[in-house]
Amino acid sequence: MQVVLAESRGLCTGFHRAIEIMETALRECGSPIYVLREALRPVQMVDRLHAKGVRFIDSLSEVPAGGTVVFSAHGVPPQVEREAKARSLNIIDATCPLVSMIHADGARLTRTGGELVVIGQADHPETEATLGRLGRRAHQVGTIEDVARLDLATSPAIAYVVQTTLSVHDVWPVLSALRARFPTITDLTATNACTAVVYRQQAAWGLAGMVDLVLVVGDTNSPGCRSLRDIARQRGTPAEIVDSSLALDEGWLTGVNRLGITAGLSTHDDLVQELIERLRTEGPLELWTLPEPKERIGGLNDAPRAMFPPLAKDAIAGVGAW
Ligand code: SF4
Repeated sequence: MQVVLAESRGLCTGFHRAIEIMETALRECGSPIYVLREALRPVQMVDRLHAKGVRFIDSLSEVPAGGTVVFSAHGVPPQVEREAKARSLNIIDATCPLVSMIHADGARLTRTGGELVVIGQADHPETEATLGRLGRRAHQVGTIEDVARLDLATSPAIAYVVQTTLSVHDVWPVLSALRARFPTITDLTATNACTAVVYRQQAAWGLAGMVDLVLVVGDTNSPGCRSLRDIARQRGTPAEIVDSSLALDEGWLTGVNRLGITAGLSTHDDLVQELIERLRTEGPLELWTLPEPKERIGGLNDAPRAMFPPLAKDAIAGVGAW
């Protein structure tokens, strides 16, 4: 069987950095440490980190007096920071620098009377953190109907930002509605967009154009993994999420000559390699890599270009007709 592995897969730099911070905190502060509202937490990684003394929590109240709390890669609202300081907890901030830049750029915009529209899920930690940092001049929208309800007519400047875990297919209709209602709206992240999500989604689309089945390694409950699976299916290719090599259903492989493998944003590459080793036990493998796109695209706001089929189609040589 041929296996095409997406080069753009797995841990983003922000989450990679957060894990390193957790490991450093364990060494320097001792076990346990408490990681607040980390959205990226697939089962196996939670188990591995848990064994080392990391506790993933949803509320500061779960941190005992004098404990060490790590703020997640997606950031926290300022009231959480205030509460942690008021309780004299040992605070370690693992907020991704790209997320911090969004907060800083958003603060500059809203301080001067501008308004920020956050395309995201109201209960997602990343969106909550951004809204919490920017106050009443930040507005969450998740649907086209939300866009229709926005009242920003008197604002001198309007910008938008997109929650990074969303699928381009979900974002694009909302963003299009936003641009139609507010033609002067700008992209807050025009100069510092996170490309990790788009590249992974683009790779899933590319893989789906060249294989018989796409496997997404990661947490079956992760919205990011589901997005990758759904993007592949939207291209008409069967796709499944597999959270470990043990969860591989051999029935999926029936009639599959070429298999595509990618991984969610929070999936450590060990899990991908374990899956490949498991596949090797089924028979000889011919391993190929789908490189990252050469064209540097923007963030999720570049959805149509990110989904442009030829971008991936000319990306891999020698795999044969597909
Ligand atoms: S998805 Fe992008 S912005 Fe979010 S944590 Fe990862 S690198 Fe940072």
